[in-house]
Amino acid sequence: MNLVILGPQGSGKGTQAELISKKYSLAHIDMGKTLRRIAKLDTPLGREIYRIQNVTKTLVPSEILKEVLNVKLNSFSREQGIVFEGVPRTEDQREYVEEILRESGRKIDAAVFINLPENESLERIEKRRTCKQCGRPLILGHDVKTGSDKCPECGGEIFQREDDSPEGVKKRLQVFREETMPVIEHFREKGILIEVDGRPSIDEVQKNIDQKLKAYF
Ligand SMILES: [Zn+2]
Repeated sequence: MNLVILGPQGSGKGTQAELISKKYSLAHIDMGKTLRRIAKLDTPLGREIYRIQNVTKTLVPSEILKEVLNVKLNSFSREQGIVFEGVPRTEDQREYVEEILRESGRKIDAAVFINLPENESLERIEKRRTCKQCGRPLILGHDVKTGSDKCPECGGEIFQREDDSPEGVKKRLQVFREETMPVIEHFREKGILIEVDGRPSIDEVQKNIDQKLKAYF
């Protein structure tokens, strides 16, 4: 069972991907996190990814994505089901992901789309902060009161990710609308799309996904 989880920024797809992977014993490939980790490295690939994500704010080109994804996929057995997060984000990427899955006798069985209106996306991201030390995502007004508070988990300093700035988010929402929506429509036409409303609480969204996902297991 291989799943793709799709949704705009702030839809909670990371949290849901994690919950699904635990519940159904699936591996979790978080492409955004993986790329950010590589972007911190002082290597040619790291510097290139950093520049794309923080300066040009565009999508990482498919050659880089292929390289990273291949390494990731090779680290799991074929029988191991996977939840993909942050990939595929474009029709090109979708074709590529389907191709390498096919090569290893796998396929995408279902795609979960967490739908969230753009204004809600912006509002949520505006409040998102990250701990410098442990990397934990924190929400202003929920996990911490102000941006000068320390991380409740480890006491580390907190900051706003560069790509979480309002301009960064607007750009990413535009990319989602133009590049990722066609991928979602593809899965809808194939009859394997599970669409849920991303506005309710994490628990509620999880229950809704779970109810619809059951049919696939
Ligand atoms: Zn921390």
